[in-house]
Amino acid sequence: MHELWFNEQNSENYQVKWRVKKVLHHETTPYQELVILETEEWGKVLVLDGAFQVTEKDEFIYHEMIVHVVMNSHPNPAKVLIIGGGDGGTLRELCRHQRLKSVDMVEIDERVVANCRQYLPSIASAFADSRLKLYFADGIEFVKNTAEKYDVVIVDSSDPVGPAVELFGTAFYNNLDAILHDDGMVVVQSESPLYYTEAFKNTYNNLKSVFPLVKVYLADIPTYVSGPWSFTVGSKKHDPTEICAEAEKQYGLKYYNDNVHRGAFCLPSYIEAILRGNE
Ligand code: SAM
Repeated sequence: MHELWFNEQNSENYQVKWRVKKVLHHETTPYQELVILETEEWGKVLVLDGAFQVTEKDEFIYHEMIVHVVMNSHPNPAKVLIIGGGDGGTLRELCRHQRLKSVDMVEIDERVVANCRQYLPSIASAFADSRLKLYFADGIEFVKNTAEKYDVVIVDSSDPVGPAVELFGTAFYNNLDAILHDDGMVVVQSESPLYYTEAFKNTYNNLKSVFPLVKVYLADIPTYVSGPWSFTVGSKKHDPTEICAEAEKQYGLKYYNDNVHRGAFCLPSYIEAILRGNE
């Protein structure tokens, strides 16, 4: 029998090949090509437009890090907005927090949520949480038009191509600024500084043009090429490098802890140089 491999094409010159046991689902939604695979070594995975989004093996690193850093550095993160995040991993981590009183989640593609609930239930495990209001809409339009105000916004978007391009731009960040309380914070996944240097740099500079305090932190997520993955926080008041006194201790996590929180903001020299504009 023929071997089945999935080629993830990161550029004309760089592919990652994943050995596949079974194609569980394949469809073209109104927004993107959606594939769910069962792989030999990474468990079940979600692929959108040819790019790996989450794998069962390492999703905990990304989801713990995009959620717990901001939730533990904001003194009262009661009302939170997630943009994107259709696989449900960010929501799962957020719902561990008892100080969370309500979460609005705006995902453009309802087929992502439906398929992740069916095929990736360990990731999509919190959609029944009573604090959740789920909207299937464009996050860009939602942020422009909502009258709600939030303590924390988490932008868990796909790469800056297709429907996610504007989620990395200044106009979107200005609208986020307007819907955040005076001590609000936003965290965005901001790509690989080594491999997607332009996208990383632009995200940082765009956030800097809007928020007084902008900080980058890193995590190693093998699924995402290449090198450490970055997250960038824009904050109106609180320093995201500090764990605040009110932070809830999270138990049962596999990656995040107090030392990781602080250490993740220590940046290698080549990344500091990119942020200074020297690269
Ligand atoms: N962890 C992932 C990564 O970095 O590869 C991202 C996970 S999540 C699957 C990304 C989600 O963002 C997708 O489900 C996609 O449909 C959604 N998305 C893209 N553009 C969007 C937009 N404009 N508004 C709301 N959701 C959007």
